[in-house]
Amino acid sequence: AVPLVVAVSTALSAQNGLLIRDRTAFENARNLQAVIFDKTGTLTEGRFGVTDTLVFQDGLSEEELLTLAAAVEQHSEHPIARGIVEAVAHPPAAEDFEAIPGKGARARVNGEEVRVVSPGYLREHGLEVQDERVDRLAEQGKTVVFVVRDGRVAGAIALADVIRPESKEAVRQLKAMGLQVMMLTGDNRRVAAWVAREIGLDDYFAEVLPDQKAAKVREVQQRGLRVAMVGDGINDAPALAQADVGIAIGAGTDVAIETADIVLVRNDPRDVVSILRLSRATYRKMV
Ligand code: ADP
Ligand code: MG
Repeated sequence: AVPLVVAVSTALSAQNGLLIRDRTAFENARNLQAVIFDKTGTLTEGRFGVTDTLVFQDGLSEEELLTLAAAVEQHSEHPIARGIVEAVAHPPAAEDFEAIPGKGARARVNGEEVRVVSPGYLREHGLEVQDERVDRLAEQGKTVVFVVRDGRVAGAIALADVIRPESKEAVRQLKAMGLQVMMLTGDNRRVAAWVAREIGLDDYFAEVLPDQKAAKVREVQQRGLRVAMVGDGINDAPALAQADVGIAIGAGTDVAIETADIVLVRNDPRDVVSILRLSRATYRKMV
């Protein structure tokens, strides 16, 4: 039988948008030692807008650069892709679209091979660009992606996401409860460092590919910490499963929700604090 206090807590929490799917995980939530947040869509809004474009090829305008990128990205669901497509009125058709997981996307546009990719992807392919303007954008916390045309880097597009106003408070309260607070992201190191500084994180992992996120969670567990992972994306499902407590936040994706022990219906990272507090209060009463 379910103890009454647990049943009451479960019902109460559901009314407040905190859905407990696994009762053991809810019980374990009281003695966690670290919380790892996904960045995009969890600590940040996950809505990117284009802020700057840099053209590296003669005869190519900023508008043409954006249009090429949008042609590829109209077939992607990624938040970065949505930001780029929004900046262009009528992207031309693209063929043979393929996502490059955690790194970008590619397609054929007007017979050209066009890729929109991360700085890490450029590094791996020996295409790295040295440009002070790119460095400056990254230092401002902007996410920079590059447009590659037939193997040549044609330009860069900077996008800004917004940190959720509630993130800083959530981090402050979790730290006050004695937890270490960390972030896991596929995004660039400098963007991650900027977000970490803005909201006061203890630690972060950047440029983590989708299939490495679970391993990062394990790494933190191997430091001897009991860990909650908070995420919203398809990418995050294995990491949620690996964590001692997996928490899906926001509308989320079905996969993340199915894998999670706890689902926070609202897009508010402070609800992580609420659920941990509720777990502590519930099981304190029982012993
Ligand atoms: P996150 O951990 O923030 O959810 P992802 O793993 O989804 O990040 O993506 C990591 C990085 O890969 C992005 O910051 C971006 O540089 C690049 N990327 C992924 N998909 C795309 C895309 N469709 N267009 C451009 N860049 C992309
Ligand atoms: Mg994500």
